[in-house]
Amino acid sequence: MRTAEVRQRWLDFFAKNDHEVRPSVPLISPDPSILFTIAGMVPFIPYIVGTEPAPWPRATSVQKCIRTNDIDEVGKTTRHGTFFQMCGNFSFGDYFKEGASHYAWDLLTGSLNDGGYGLDGDKLWVTIWEQDDEALEIWTKQIGLDPTHVQRLPREQIFWDTGQPGPAGPCAEIHYDRGPAYGPEGGPEADTKGDRYLELWNLVFDEFLRGEGKGKDYPLLGKLDQTAIDTGLGLERLAFLLQGKDNMYEIDEVFPVIEVAQKLSGRKYTSSPDPMDVHFRVVADHVRSSLMLIGDGVRPSNEGRGYVLRRLMRRAVRSMRLLGVQDAVMPQLLPASMDVMKDSYPELKDNWETIADVAYAEEDAFRRTLDSGTVILDTAVAKAKQAGKDLSGEDAFQLHDTYGFPLSLTLEMAAEAGVKVDEKRFTELMNEQKQRARADAVAKKTGHVDVHVYHDLAEKLGKAKTVDFLGYTETSAPAKVV
Ligand code: ATP
Ligand code: MG
Ligand code: MG
Ligand code: MG
Repeated sequence: MRTAEVRQRWLDFFAKNDHEVRPSVPLISPDPSILFTIAGMVPFIPYIVGTEPAPWPRATSVQKCIRTNDIDEVGKTTRHGTFFQMCGNFSFGDYFKEGASHYAWDLLTGSLNDGGYGLDGDKLWVTIWEQDDEALEIWTKQIGLDPTHVQRLPREQIFWDTGQPGPAGPCAEIHYDRGPAYGPEGGPEADTKGDRYLELWNLVFDEFLRGEGKGKDYPLLGKLDQTAIDTGLGLERLAFLLQGKDNMYEIDEVFPVIEVAQKLSGRKYTSSPDPMDVHFRVVADHVRSSLMLIGDGVRPSNEGRGYVLRRLMRRAVRSMRLLGVQDAVMPQLLPASMDVMKDSYPELKDNWETIADVAYAEEDAFRRTLDSGTVILDTAVAKAKQAGKDLSGEDAFQLHDTYGFPLSLTLEMAAEAGVKVDEKRFTELMNEQKQRARADAVAKKTGHVDVHVYHDLAEKLGKAKTVDFLGYTETSAPAKVV
C-alpha cells in the first residue's frame, strides 16, 4: 500500500466517523514556544488544554512534523525521521477512552477491503498506565486482546502533561510485534531498543487535573470537567510495515533518494546496519526534511530554524562525501524527493524554483567551506602525525566552528590518515560555546546585554535554566528547542 493511500485511509476512516478533516499546518510551529511542529496536536493545543472552545467536537489530520531531538537516531534505528507525518484523531470533550481505543483497534485490524489496514491483531501489544483499570478492561474484555499483550507501566513512562499544573493523563501505546528476527520475546516493556515491538500509535487520555511538582512527581487533584483525546500514529512506520520493508527509509516516499544516491556513488545499498548504509538512510531522511523545511519558508542561517536546516543539509552532503561523492549532489537528490512528495504536498511543485535555488546555493556555499576546511584539516593532521600526537580538540573545534565540519567528519578524515582526535577537549569547547549561546539567547530575550552577569547567575544556580516544551508525551525525551 502506497504511503499516500495509508494517509488517505486514515482521513477517510475518521471522516466517516464524524471527524472534521483538518489540513496540516506548516512546519514552522503556530505555537511560539516551540520552533517546529513536533506533533499532530500542536495546532489543537488551545482546545486540548481548554483555553479556547473547540470549533468541532472531533477532528483528524495528517500533520507534517520535524523532531530535531531524533537527529542522532536517524538511519540507525528503523523508525526515526527528522521529518515525518503524524496521523492524529482528536476529541474535545466528546468521545473518550473507550471510543479512542475501539477506533484504533478497528482501523488497524479492519480488513483491507473495508478501509482498514488489515494488521493481524495477534501481533499487537498495548502498554497502559498501571493504575488505568478502565483501559485494561477496554483492551482485554471489550476488544478481546490477549491479556499477556497488555503491559502496565509506571507513571514516569506513560503519562502525558504539559510540564506545569493543568491537564494531564495516561496514555495507551500500541506496538506491533515484528517477530523473533528483531529481538527476544517479552513485549514492548522489555524491548528497550524498540526494534521488535515497533511503537505505532500513542493514545493520550487527557482526564486529570495535576498539581505542582517536578517531572512526574505531582499530585492528581481530580478529574477534568472536559476530557480530551489526542492521538498520534507515525505514518511512515505503518507504511513500512504495510510495504513489507525493514525500515521507514525504504518506503515509496523516501527510498527514491537512496536509489539516486546509489547511482551517484556507484555503491550498493544493502539495508544493513553497516555505517555506509546508515549514510544512505541519513541522506534520504535529511534531503526530504530539507525539502519540506525550505518549502515551508525556512531559510539556511546560523540560528534557530535556519540553523537546523543548515545542519541537515550539511549532514546530507557530508554523508554523500563519505559515500565517495565529491560533486554537488542536491541537484540530483532534491528533485527525487520532490517527485515522490509532491502529490501529497502540491505546494512543493508551485514553489519548486525557489526551493531548488535556496538548496543549491546552500550546498555550493558548504562545498566551498568544505574545500577550505579540508586544506586546514590536512595540515593539522600532518602536523599531529609528525609529532606523534592526536589532532587537538582546538583544531577540531575550529573546523567545526569556522568551517562547519561536524566532529564525525573530522574523525573520519583523520582516521583515514591514521590519526586520532582529542574528542574530550573538543566536547569541552563545544559545551563552553553552548553555554555562551544560551546566555546570549537569554540576554536577547530579557534585553540584558551584559552576558557576564548571567554567567555568574547561571553558575550560582548550578545550571542555566532553559525551558523545554513538554507538550506531546512524557514517555520519551521532550522535543528540545535547538
Ligand atoms: P519513539 O519512542 O519511537 O521515539 P515517541 O514515543 O517519541 O516514539 P510519540 O511522541 O508518542 O513518539 O509520537 C506519536 C507517534 O509518532 C509515535 O508512536 C510514532 O509512531 C511516531 N513518531 C514519533 N517520532 C517519530 C520520528 N522521529 N519519526 C517517525 N515517526 C515518529
Ligand atoms: Mg510515544
Ligand atoms: Mg515512545
Ligand atoms: Mg521519541
